[in-house]
Amino acid sequence: MAGMRLVFGCQAFINTALFEKAVMTPAPKPGILDITAYVGGRASAPGAVKVHKLSSNESPLGPSPAAMEALRAASHDLQIYPEGSAKLLREAIGAVYGLDPARLIGSGDGSDAILTMLANAYLRPGDEVLFSEHAFSLYKIATLANSAVPVIVPEKELRFDVDATLARVSAKTRMVYIANPNNPTGSYISHAEMRRLHEGLPEQALLVIDAAYCEYVRRNDYEPGVEMVSQFPNVVMTRTFSKIHGLAGLRIGWCYAPASVCDVLNRIRGPFNVATMQQKVGAAAIADRAHVEKSAAHNETWRGWLTTEIRKLGLRVDDSVANFVLIHFPAGVKSSAKADAFLMSRGLILRACGSYALPDCLRLTVGTAEQNEMVVAALRDFMAA
Ligand SMILES: *Cc1c(COP(=O)(O)O)cnc(C)c1O
Repeated sequence: MAGMRLVFGCQAFINTALFEKAVMTPAPKPGILDITAYVGGRASAPGAVKVHKLSSNESPLGPSPAAMEALRAASHDLQIYPEGSAKLLREAIGAVYGLDPARLIGSGDGSDAILTMLANAYLRPGDEVLFSEHAFSLYKIATLANSAVPVIVPEKELRFDVDATLARVSAKTRMVYIANPNNPTGSYISHAEMRRLHEGLPEQALLVIDAAYCEYVRRNDYEPGVEMVSQFPNVVMTRTFSKIHGLAGLRIGWCYAPASVCDVLNRIRGPFNVATMQQKVGAAAIADRAHVEKSAAHNETWRGWLTTEIRKLGLRVDDSVANFVLIHFPAGVKSSAKADAFLMSRGLILRACGSYALPDCLRLTVGTAEQNEMVVAALRDFMAA
């Protein structure tokens, strides 16, 4: 490599034309160069003594002890390829939710990879993909990467708007992505509204329900998508181990899909796309229902507390059913950018929401008791300063 660099360097110096030829690259598919690369939540706060990362909706309680034990036990036989269908993981998920393992697909690169794989499998150049104004940025990336056309639907009071979405359906509509609950707004639509959305879609369109935060929702009118996938041939539900299971670092995701969609995904996915360790840890994590319940209960308590306390400071906080809240800041001296800098100086990292088209907002992940109290104290000082 060092030799290559040296050769190119010399050519650039003595023969510019030759150098330019050497750096010409093949053009990617149309759309790819329109993509703004995904930027994750920040992880460092320069100068802060201790950092609290509340920017990526990770679990403050971490993974189940059973998952940690499975991780230690899975460190043997790394020279052996994994079982290719992620059978162990699919059977564990199937047992917990009463789903047919044949209709589950695992992913060793999070549910992001499944959302992407669906786009790769179904989108043709020029196809239209509907998603909402403040949706997860991956939907746009997966759409553009397949030379398809994003159709961005306005929201109504920071909620997914079924009517506005249906009004934009055309003969070219091929896919609808909806995060339910949505990130970063924390809002959700009811099961009845989701059915109404589905009823208005043409048969050739796939409805992709991204239920990354579903385990946190405690509302009687909510359903993550299981019923609709069981009933319809064009609905897929994606899920993740990154949020309530506290395993974001291990990158495990899955989906429940119609048999025909599973057949398609099984043809295009990587042949060993879920590592042995991922299968074993995921299976142990999902079986530990007590840990899931504990994480949901912690979240319920502290999300309510954060919402109330931050509202008392005079800031708008939207109702959230997920493990984060969206805080709105006024323009001027108490702006979101100034709040962000102030919180950073105390090591508290929230998520700036400019990339979600919400530049006046910061998204706060529900943290440990100590972290939540620190954030409220810091915001109180910021507002008083
Ligand atoms: C966090 C998140 C996911 C999960 O992504 P993974 O790749 O499984 O870690 C999916 N969708 C949304 C909207 C999210 O916020």
